[in-house]
Amino acid sequence: MELTNISTIKDVMSRNGVSFTKSLGQNFLINPAVCPKIADLGGCKKGAAAIEIGTGIGVLTKELALRSDKVLAIEIDERLRPVLAETLAEFDNVEIVFADILKTDLSALISEKLSGYSDIVVCANLPYYITSPVIMKLLEERPPIRSITVMVQKEAAERLCAAVGSRECGAVTAAVNYYSTPKMLFRVGRGSFMPSPNVDSAVIRLDIPEKPRYAVSDEKLFFKIVRSSFAQRRKQILNPLGAALGIPKPELAKLLEECGIKTTARPEELKMEEIVALCEKISAYN
Ligand code: SAM
Repeated sequence: MELTNISTIKDVMSRNGVSFTKSLGQNFLINPAVCPKIADLGGCKKGAAAIEIGTGIGVLTKELALRSDKVLAIEIDERLRPVLAETLAEFDNVEIVFADILKTDLSALISEKLSGYSDIVVCANLPYYITSPVIMKLLEERPPIRSITVMVQKEAAERLCAAVGSRECGAVTAAVNYYSTPKMLFRVGRGSFMPSPNVDSAVIRLDIPEKPRYAVSDEKLFFKIVRSSFAQRRKQILNPLGAALGIPKPELAKLLEECGIKTTARPEELKMEEIVALCEKISAYN
């Protein structure tokens, strides 16, 4: 079954009484070149397992299943059950769990469904209304995965893959860089989807190292520093950070200088190493 063919999609959905639900971010891929590329660049391979978030009618699921030993997919929309039973009938290595990814204990699900796999990747065309929460969940909960390859809105991709210390960098950029190495892979125009969204998209990959990229002794403090300073990323760091941490300005200025950071610096100008060094200084000060 050609799952990027518009007539096939319409036919399989209407036969099963399913319509597109915009509020669930249901824009399905109809460009046949995209899913094989996501699966290949996402590192799917024999001997390994892949996790998909949001199957739709299974167009990416199928490419993951062709390349991996096992696919574990999480889809919120139970109405797609009969559709997927039809579109993925030829694959015995796909298991679909109907659940909300944001309410799923992924590490527990992996232990239950993918025990025995030491090489696990996540590949997905994410529902855009929950891009950041899903990515942060996958990183923060530290499930045993090697990489996350996802299609997201183009602007979100640019923000996530921006260099820390550049104008495009935000709190989410610093957070993602703390856990992983982000990389922009390729862009996908809005015409590649049905129904066509009002925005363009891009596929990014976050490679997760076995050991943390940065040695931070107090993670909670690190993220407090990131959140509070980037809330006003074009302002000088001294004011928002001093207020958030309750450190008098002259003392914070001294800590910044000890890290080689100018007191006039703006959060968006800081490199990862500088944020980490500042976190360690503030941790010792507390
Ligand atoms: N993979 C398919 C494709 O590329 O054509 C569908 C991608 S579509 C952009 C997003 C999918 O995520 C939809 O099937 C939608 O029902 C599902 N979804 C939305 N919210 C979800 C959630 N919280 N948990 C799991 N799946 C969700």
